[in-house]
Amino acid sequence: MFDSHYLPLINGEFTAFTEETFPATDATTGERLAVITRSGAAEVDAAVAAAKAAFPAWSATPAAERAKLLLKVADWLEENTERLVRIDAHDIGRTVFELPQDYRQAIGQYRFFASAISTHDGWNNVTPGGWAIAKREPLGVVGAIIPWNVPAIMVSFKLAPALAAGNTVVLKPDENASLSTLELAKYLAEIFPAGVVNVVPGFGEEAGAALTGNPDVAKLAFTGSTEVGRIIAHAGASRLVPVTLELGGKSPNIVFPDIDDIDAVVDNVTFAATFCNGQSCLAGTRLFLHDDIYDTFMEKLVTAFRSIRVGSPLDPETRLGSVVSPKQGERVLKYIETGKAEAKLITGGERVEVPGHEAGWFIAPTIFETTNDSTIAQEEIFGPVLSVIRWNDFDTMIEQANDIRYGLASGVYTSNLRNAMRTADRLQAGQVWVNQYVNLVDGSPFGGYKESGLGREVAKETLDAYTQLKSVMLAEQVPPPFYV
Ligand code: ADP
Repeated sequence: MFDSHYLPLINGEFTAFTEETFPATDATTGERLAVITRSGAAEVDAAVAAAKAAFPAWSATPAAERAKLLLKVADWLEENTERLVRIDAHDIGRTVFELPQDYRQAIGQYRFFASAISTHDGWNNVTPGGWAIAKREPLGVVGAIIPWNVPAIMVSFKLAPALAAGNTVVLKPDENASLSTLELAKYLAEIFPAGVVNVVPGFGEEAGAALTGNPDVAKLAFTGSTEVGRIIAHAGASRLVPVTLELGGKSPNIVFPDIDDIDAVVDNVTFAATFCNGQSCLAGTRLFLHDDIYDTFMEKLVTAFRSIRVGSPLDPETRLGSVVSPKQGERVLKYIETGKAEAKLITGGERVEVPGHEAGWFIAPTIFETTNDSTIAQEEIFGPVLSVIRWNDFDTMIEQANDIRYGLASGVYTSNLRNAMRTADRLQAGQVWVNQYVNLVDGSPFGGYKESGLGREVAKETLDAYTQLKSVMLAEQVPPPFYV
């Protein structure tokens, strides 16, 4: 299933200057899956130079031709989903039950942007004696840096709009989750002209920093933590290149007492906090639960959390696998310890051993009863840990829901339209899901308010961020200068 050694993709070739490698390890057994060349500045600079050289021809390629290749990527991913899902399950510990949805989402992105680019025009106006035309042009080389939690989706969020718009790309996958991207890279090398897509696996402070600092990169696109997002934004600011950022979250999920199907809402709220093993910037990790239904709901919620099957990510019955690495596992457990000191632990709160997968960091689905100002309610934990906050006054609840540095997603459960509307209106978040959670629809803008990011992905507006406008004024006849 794995090659023994993966290399960067630079100018259509799998090649490197360095002999240095880093291991890709199985998240739950600790087994070495492969070694990956550790890209440094030399590899990144060569990749950027290749992308720069490929840009004139690629940007001049008709959008319909570019779209054809993106549609091929979608077809290839569809044909290879099962294999890639297994690769990710080994590499990052996410379950084979859940990962196919990542691939459906990623495939949708390639198809969406292959279509959307055909309608992403500039405009033209008739002016006295001529026309004024605004053309949309690609920016050049896009430097894209992505995290490990949903590799297929992250790659699609960056490649599909950047390539559809006519940019060339240097993509740095995360050091914890490179394998499925490097498998995809083999196919990209087959179908794209050399240099159009380059992949440089490696570490943030090396390959990532070399990419953000390269003077030939014309745009930076990043998904990851707010802390690193700030570093990327500084790098963009110092060279005056545009930056889009999709960063952390600590999303409120609000339950009104008027819900008509409590069991369905319990299932949704459980999923919102635990999908992706809790390692999602979207996760609904602050549950605002109304006083009137608090006890009944909480009892059902605890039952739901306790019945989540924790186990090998490769077992189709498993619903919660291992977090990605020991470092991440220790971080989650540290937050749980903080929670035990400042809040009331309701269930979970420990590492779970799974026989045969002793190296995995399986965290029992955890619920704390707490207040919005606690550390566990304010900071992004990136593990299956839910903070439940009791509410009874609407204005106070909304104030608390917004009292956070993040603003990525949110959920509202109610059977009352007025409650849904006024809550959606007042939440400071880029997404508001009403009576559902984690539904990213191709074409509907996705991105954060406040410290959750800059810009929107997934939608037609995304293409604006991968292009710039040029106004061209045409005169029928050379007019006299206006001061004559
Ligand atoms: P997460 O906590 O989701 O892993 P990070 O923000 O730590 O998010 O990492 C996301 C991506 O950013 C990874 O590909 C990582 O290698 C990269 N990265 C980390 N530090 C830097 C940096 N200083 N410059 C550029 N990229 C970085």
